[in-house]
Amino acid sequence: MPFTRASIYRRDGYKCQYCGDAFASEDLTFDHVVPASHGGRRDWTNIVTACVPCNKRKGARTPQEASMVLRRSPRKPVARSVFRVSLGIRQSPASWRDYLYWNAELET
Ligand SMILES: [Zn+2]
Repeated sequence: MPFTRASIYRRDGYKCQYCGDAFASEDLTFDHVVPASHGGRRDWTNIVTACVPCNKRKGARTPQEASMVLRRSPRKPVARSVFRVSLGIRQSPASWRDYLYWNAELET
C-alpha cells in the first residue's frame, strides 16, 4: 500500500477525522496527529485526513491540546487480498463467468 495523499484519503473514506464530514479530495488536507514540531512522524499512524477548517483550528498542537477528538485512531491499512484466478475463464462454470469477468484484476 503506497503511502500517498490519495491512499490516506481512501483509508479515511474522504472524511475529516476531526469533524467527521466527507469532502472532495481537493478540499482535504492531511494532518500530523502529533505535530512534526512535537516529534510526530509522517507515517500511517500519525497522519490523518482533515478538512481545511479543522486543520487550521488544530494547528501545530496535539488533539488533546486542541481539545479535538479523532474519529478513529489511524492505522496502516491491511493490503487488500487479491483474488487470483487460477482457473481459466473458459474452463470455469458458466455461472462464474460474469463474476470472474467483473472481478478479475485488470492486467496492465
Ligand atoms: Zn473537519
